[in-house]
Amino acid sequence: MPELPDVEVFRRRFEESALDRAVGDVSAESAVLEGLSEKTLKGALVDASFVESRRHGKYMFIRYRSAGSRKGESWLVMHFGMTGYLQPCPSAKEKPPHTRMLVSFKDGGSLAYSCQRKLGRIQLTDDIDHFLKHMKLGPDALADEMDFVTFRERIVKSRGALKSTLMNQSLIAGIGNIYSDEILYQARIHPRRKPAELSAAMLENLYEAMRFVLNAAIDAEVNPERMPAGFLLPRRQPGASCPCGGRIEKISISGRHGYYCPNCQVN
Ligand SMILES: [Zn+2]
Repeated sequence: MPELPDVEVFRRRFEESALDRAVGDVSAESAVLEGLSEKTLKGALVDASFVESRRHGKYMFIRYRSAGSRKGESWLVMHFGMTGYLQPCPSAKEKPPHTRMLVSFKDGGSLAYSCQRKLGRIQLTDDIDHFLKHMKLGPDALADEMDFVTFRERIVKSRGALKSTLMNQSLIAGIGNIYSDEILYQARIHPRRKPAELSAAMLENLYEAMRFVLNAAIDAEVNPERMPAGFLLPRRQPGASCPCGGRIEKISISGRHGYYCPNCQVN
């Protein structure tokens, strides 16, 4: 499932390829549209230009502006579900498989939103803050406002296991199954530990690990082969060897399967 680093990579890809370009046409499957029809989407985007992009947690926002638009902001909102991604393509004929929305630009080329399992969602909003509140999303894991004090206050409130806590989007937005494992592995903390049990030093470690992991994954453009050598990500399978000499194990917490090293993560 695309998490914060994946969506940030999609956003940067979008900025490089689609910003300030005028939309000639758009098509979309109703299965991924939430609260709007393809006709409404066409009415909003055709002849408009993309002028800005933002990301909050696993959500991406694209601001669009029509030539004769009234005041106020209009945003296209994307969530990528389990299998979604955004890909610029030179022509509509070269769109990736499972393309659910295709934006064609007036000066050629297009942008594809692909989502095999159709669990992603596309929406429109004119107020991001209201949208975030409505979706009950906490602050983004890498936002300035997510300083250590805020992180600690949000984490220690949770009674769930640490892995589930990190994945709780209403506490911190952006972390899912893969990166919660990675953060706990880097912090050398067992995924079943309860937040209230952590010492101040462990909480600080955890916060630093969160920032390090998410930034490193973005820098590596989420390519497991380009991640730092000590990452769990390329060895997410039972029995894989950990640099400590131990073996990676599979663990199930609140219905989610994760991976950890019982030798490193004893705390
Ligand atoms: Zn280990």
